[in-house]
Amino acid sequence: MIKLHKINKYFSQHHVLKGIDLSVKKGEVVAILGPSGSGKSTLLRSINFLERPSSGSVEIGALKVNADTASKKDIHALRMATAMVFQQFNLFKNLNVLQNVMIGLTSVKKMDRKKAKEISAQILEKVGLSDRISYYPSRLSGGQQQRVAIARALALNPEVLLFDEPTSALDPELVDEVLSTIKKVAQEGNTMIIVTHELGFAREVADKVVFMDNGLVVEEGPVEKIFTDPGEERTKQFLGKAL
Ligand code: ADP
Ligand code: MG
Repeated sequence: MIKLHKINKYFSQHHVLKGIDLSVKKGEVVAILGPSGSGKSTLLRSINFLERPSSGSVEIGALKVNADTASKKDIHALRMATAMVFQQFNLFKNLNVLQNVMIGLTSVKKMDRKKAKEISAQILEKVGLSDRISYYPSRLSGGQQQRVAIARALALNPEVLLFDEPTSALDPELVDEVLSTIKKVAQEGNTMIIVTHELGFAREVADKVVFMDNGLVVEEGPVEKIFTDPGEERTKQFLGKAL
């Protein structure tokens, strides 16, 4: 379903991704773990060319995009096939909750407003925000704002949902509501790639774990294997506290 092939990324001289290969099956939930600065965000952003890889290719379903030859049309197609949830929510402050979820459907997908509203309202119900649809982001807690961002991503019905540390900007008491929302989304069979520092959550929700360090995939495998019997010393050290 998703294949990254030999992804390299340089920021000027700095080699940040060093030939990453990664496969994700349809319906699979993959957790990307690793220390800060190891290249997790850059890898996630390479999937939809928010960061254009220096070389390598990205396949999502029938779409195959090579970094060397990618056209605007290719990049647009990658963006349409993916939706990302960021650490900092990235909601539109001047739009209410319903409008924040609708906007991707009306502006990007050119859906008519009535249908977009219907779909958005349904999804907001799923993330437990039916009673907040006319609120502006400034009146919501961080956890509620992040659930709006998740609803917005879900509304686009992408091939794959990408999460970049979706709970690390939240006050501790708000983390759980967001993690349980993501867990629910995972259980519905969505294909997801999640960068997270929440090791317990990763263990609960992921099928597969990818452990990165220093721009490389050190180790990957089924979640229970990685958590109970990691093959690499570096993985053991990192997971140490969770084992
Ligand atoms: P992680 O998400 O694992 O913490 P990142 O992908 O954010 O790691 O960063 C990997 C490395 O790339 C870091 O050394 C970081 O400083 C560098 N980096 C990330 N984004 C940029 C950028 N836009 N320009 C220059 N260097 C960057
Ligand atoms: Mg990061």
